[in-house]
Amino acid sequence: MTFTAEAQAVWDKVPEATRAKLLDSGFCAHCLAKKHFDLVEAEIRDRSLALIGKCGSCGHRVVRLIELD
Ligand SMILES: [Zn+2]
Repeated sequence: MTFTAEAQAVWDKVPEATRAKLLDSGFCAHCLAKKHFDLVEAEIRDRSLALIGKCGSCGHRVVRLIELD
């Protein structure tokens, strides 16, 4: 996995149960559905944590944005 230091710091504070939910709700533009995805990268974009990974069904790139307070 490739995380920026900032993204790692945010991700480290996310509880395990919440992480699992986030990783089960990535929208795959290929499957056109919410899918579990394998986390590959994370970075901070504006005020969001961007989780980037691969769809567990088809392998298409999935990006899940989480707004930060
Ligand atoms: Zn997919």
